Amino acid sequence: MRNVVIIGSGPAGLTAAVYAARANLSPLLIEGWQSGGQLTTTTEVENYPGFAKGIMGPELMKEMRAQAERFGTEFLTGDVSAVDLKTRPFTITIDGEHTVQTKTLIIATGASAIQIGVKNEARLTGHGVSTCATCDGFFFKGKELIVVGGGDSAMEEATFLTKFATKVSIVHRRDKLRASKIMQDRAVKNGKITFVWNSVVEDILGDDVVAGVRLKNLVTGKTTELPSAGVFVAIGHRPNTNLFSGQLDMDAKGYIHTTQGTATNVPGVFAAGDVQDSTYRQAVTAAGSGCMAAIDAERFLESGSHTL
Ligand code: NAP
Repeated sequence: MRNVVIIGSGPAGLTAAVYAARANLSPLLIEGWQSGGQLTTTTEVENYPGFAKGIMGPELMKEMRAQAERFGTEFLTGDVSAVDLKTRPFTITIDGEHTVQTKTLIIATGASAIQIGVKNEARLTGHGVSTCATCDGFFFKGKELIVVGGGDSAMEEATFLTKFATKVSIVHRRDKLRASKIMQDRAVKNGKITFVWNSVVEDILGDDVVAGVRLKNLVTGKTTELPSAGVFVAIGHRPNTNLFSGQLDMDAKGYIHTTQGTATNVPGVFAAGDVQDSTYRQAVTAAGSGCMAAIDAERFLESGSHTL
């Protein structure tokens, strides 16, 4: 029987672990097979306080994990396949095999990249279609690439990919970017980046590997083909909350509804980070809410509410 189980190993989950471990709650953190959350798929993080010169995303997560471990957090690697929040203690099933029982649960499962949803996208994923430039950019040395999206992620991915690619075309469905000014400027000033405005990807072309995309201009209605060795999709994220549907209150997009800090509608279940935040979605805000969730769980246990 656990005091606190944390699901998720991004900034929210690991910060919750640091706080819960330092409160002597002996937390168990369940990390998925791809540990570390979204920051492991990013490059330089320049806006996390405390790193004046910036820090690489994977390095930051390694440090956070080591910090949680230092205070006695136990880690279990596996994918949570089911949760039962209807009876106390709560039951968590991992990889359909092991079960863990816990008095409180902190959900920090984050969010995942959204797909475009075109026919050949799934078939060519891993064969030229990617949602992670940091992971896959290296494979495209000397090639021409496409990035889809107009937000900070698209600008960041495109800028990073110019280290390898000869040309990167950013395909955006409008003629104005959503990205912050500083990220836009970097992309616009980069001589290897060009913009394809008012356009959407109608399909991804290629037999075994990506050969290009078919684009549709939303203003003229004209369809064109653009050759490319890779398509990097950067059109936002969706919260990872399928596991909890029907058991926790969520908004229309599936973000977990929290009140009074990190409390969900089930007493003793707390949610932290991107899984409950569609507004700020920053590493530092996720870490902050992870800290709040650990304190909320500690107070819940102290009050004896888990026995009610
Ligand atoms: P985002 O801000 O939601 O932007 C998504 C982009 O994709 C938008 O330009 C959107 O177009 C486009 N889009 C959405 N669905 C589409 C579809 N089906 N087909 C074509 N285009 C589509 O997502 P994000 O860029 O991932 O950023 C998420 C958050 O993380 C933001 O708060 C951002 O500031 C932050 N972030 C920060 C950094 C950094 O500071 N280093 C890096 C990455 C992300 P519309 O503009 O027309 O809606």
